Amino acid sequence: PPKAMKKPKLEAKKSDEKPTNPDRIDDKWRPPTTITEPGSAAETYSMGRKLGKGGFAVCFEGRAKKTSEVFALKVVKAKVEQKKMMEKFRTELQIHAKMHHPNIVEFLRAFTIEDHTYVVLELCPNGSLTEMVKTRSCLSLPEVRRFMVQICGGVKYMHKRSVIHRDLKMGNIFLDSRMNIKIGDFGLAAVMADEQDRRTTLCGTPNYIAPEILSKSGNRGHDNKVDTWAVGVICYAMLMGTPPFQSKTQQEIYTKLRSLEYEWKIDSKNYIPPQAKDFVAACLNLNSAERPDMDQLVEYDFFKMGAIADELDILCLRSSPNWL
Ligand code: ADP
Repeated sequence: PPKAMKKPKLEAKKSDEKPTNPDRIDDKWRPPTTITEPGSAAETYSMGRKLGKGGFAVCFEGRAKKTSEVFALKVVKAKVEQKKMMEKFRTELQIHAKMHHPNIVEFLRAFTIEDHTYVVLELCPNGSLTEMVKTRSCLSLPEVRRFMVQICGGVKYMHKRSVIHRDLKMGNIFLDSRMNIKIGDFGLAAVMADEQDRRTTLCGTPNYIAPEILSKSGNRGHDNKVDTWAVGVICYAMLMGTPPFQSKTQQEIYTKLRSLEYEWKIDSKNYIPPQAKDFVAACLNLNSAERPDMDQLVEYDFFKMGAIADELDILCLRSSPNWL
């Protein structure tokens, strides 16, 4: 009978639904048309189009009334139920606020109004490398060299200040109006313990220190090499159109990367010079200590053997540059 059939169907649908995360901003949420920052030097922003959404945040364009300058306003819930998330967000702001480099998204300020915290960021109107590479299939060598030099420059700056990004990927690397790289999303960034900190902890009570603690802190100095690995993955993905260890499941990806299982598929239309392969192979070294740092990376032959695009038109977002 139809009535009896209906019930299990409804139940099945209910259990398929993902529980909504209370800390995440609702997709339908829109900010007020204008936002006025608290304080004496307050700026008012008229809110514009939605730029995108992330795990917890939504980003909108915001035009500052006084200067007419347009920014990206990242909005997150002011009161987050998960304590860990709150701490992470605080670390993100603290680290990001200290970064000032032409290839890092500039953080201007953050303020809270009622239920939401607004983070004012430099606007990157040309999206991320993910979209560009998806549209173009793969990028030309002069473009890849330009982007890689700029990425290495930004990462070198962070590492000099003991900051490890830890989440470098094409989706977190944005393009400004002049097609310059802007590294963003410091959500997973961390500050490395400095030499002195380490020494004091180790000197505490040496007789009681477990070997794994010793080896862990011994590795700590190389922690920033996780960013070198990511730089290699990004370079491969720009050249080939897909990341090197791409697979259907996470498990397969891990298996492949542990055994460095990736290949350069030969294609008559997409020539990859050996110098580019050397560069990627150096980054994708399973031994982190052997991976080059950012200073060493920019010295690779890949950057000396051919042109580096010094200006790029935004038309390159859609099609190969016409000098090719
Ligand atoms: P989450 O930290 O929640 O992952 P993101 O920082 O990734 O949020 O931001 C969400 C989205 O907003 C991004 O994927 C991107 O589309 C857009 N976005 C973030 N920062 C900027 C920016 N500075 N300029 C332009 N768009 C941005």
